[in-house]
Amino acid sequence: MNKLIGILGGTFNPIHYGHLRMAQELADVLGFEEVRFIPAANPPHKPTPEVSPAQRAAMVELAISNNPLFKLDTRELERTGTSYTIDTLISLREELGEEIEQQVSLCLILGSDAFVKLNTWHRWQELLNYCHIILVQRPNPAAQPKLPEELTALLHDHYTENSVDLTTKTAGYIHMQKITPLDISSTKIRDELKIGRSQRYLVPYNIIEYISTHKLYGQLAIQFK
Ligand code: ATP
Repeated sequence: MNKLIGILGGTFNPIHYGHLRMAQELADVLGFEEVRFIPAANPPHKPTPEVSPAQRAAMVELAISNNPLFKLDTRELERTGTSYTIDTLISLREELGEEIEQQVSLCLILGSDAFVKLNTWHRWQELLNYCHIILVQRPNPAAQPKLPEELTALLHDHYTENSVDLTTKTAGYIHMQKITPLDISSTKIRDELKIGRSQRYLVPYNIIEYISTHKLYGQLAIQFK
């Protein structure tokens, strides 16, 4: 049986309970030995975030500090240029292959909003050579575009309903996992912070403190709530 490692890449601008709860539930249900949170330095599909990669990573570090299963992985911050997932997977494979005797299955966690655009990712056809994909439904599917035909085909060719398959091959499956739907997004958090609304209970309290102290997202330290 392979060891399973969850990989959660994102902009984390900022990290929120949608990310954290999803990672926890997947770790519990699928048996991940760890979940790596990998902040993107220069995300290919989003405008360059106003908040620096170092600050977004610092928020991830704070948010996961009390969870021994969760690890911050800063490899995308150490590379120059666009942060492509394929490069991250290849470097993870190189590292884990050398260090660990037991075979490792990398489980790339993708929300449905990310999956519907997968065919626009750099070298997307190669991703499943390096990892499995764990597909999670994001709430509000009505707002999401239809799955392109080539992704319907990818899903058809690689789908498994049985999560045990993830432990028998190191890569190549797509598995869908139900989680508690939490309609939380970084975009909404940023928008609401700009108009002075409290984000308590959507993001961990130490992240609210960090945002306030560093005056991120248009916050004045004095408005801290
Ligand atoms: P933004 O609103 O800025 O686009 P986001 O909230 O989608 O950000 P990201 O950091 O881009 O957050 O997300 C990283 C990964 O986590 C993506 O695969 C995304 O689909 C997934 N994700 C984010 N929020 C949730 C959520 N509430 N439920 C399930 N998956 C989520």
